[in-house]
Amino acid sequence: MYLKGVEIAGFKSFGERVNINFNQGITSIVGPNGSGKSNILDSILWVLGEQSYKNIRAKESKDIIFSGGEGKKPANFAEVSLHIDNRDRFFPVELEKVKVTRKMYQSGENEYLLNDKKIRLKDINDMFLDTGIGKSAYSVIGQGKVERIISSSNRELKGIIEEAAGIKKFQQQKLESIKKLKSVQEELEKIELILKELK
Ligand code: ATP
Repeated sequence: MYLKGVEIAGFKSFGERVNINFNQGITSIVGPNGSGKSNILDSILWVLGEQSYKNIRAKESKDIIFSGGEGKKPANFAEVSLHIDNRDRFFPVELEKVKVTRKMYQSGENEYLLNDKKIRLKDINDMFLDTGIGKSAYSVIGQGKVERIISSSNRELKGIIEEAAGIKKFQQQKLESIKKLKSVQEELEKIELILKELK
């Protein structure tokens, strides 16, 4: 599996649709200060389902849509796609090429797509969970994150290690099962009450 490219349109400083292709191996992106290098990393985190604007250096949803400049009109939506080579079936989907897209309109409405078909945010999270690439994984280390990791509390460090070790997925499944169990328990209690009344 490798990230073949990122397609960015209307996201932050990217007013026009831009395709950034990566080769296997190391890619360096160089450019003057403020030219949009970190915005590329932000766009990757955003597609992965990032919900915290702070983590992508914005205050609110509208900050991530291109606001215009240099004679260009503001964008109506922001759209970012990750193009992933999945020939090794790293992702458990029967697709050689995986394209994950997130689109957000001025209204704040979000859409997620897998190979151009609409999916839920939960599907994205499930797909990336345990792969080491999810939004909370440490595959995207932006400026300041190293410092934040070093100064994390023991509890936060434990969370980081759990994510890297791939056990977060099981913790999430456990929480979902406990929730389901609770609602089944409540249903059972209701049925028992009805049965008592009928006796
Ligand atoms: P540095 O090397 O200083 O870290 P950088 O190349 O990483 O810089 P970024 O932080 O990615 O640069 O980009 C900052 C630029 O993005 C700023 O010029 C800012 O005006 C622009 N920008 C951010 N959000 C938007 C937006 N919604 N619309 C238009 N431009 C935006």
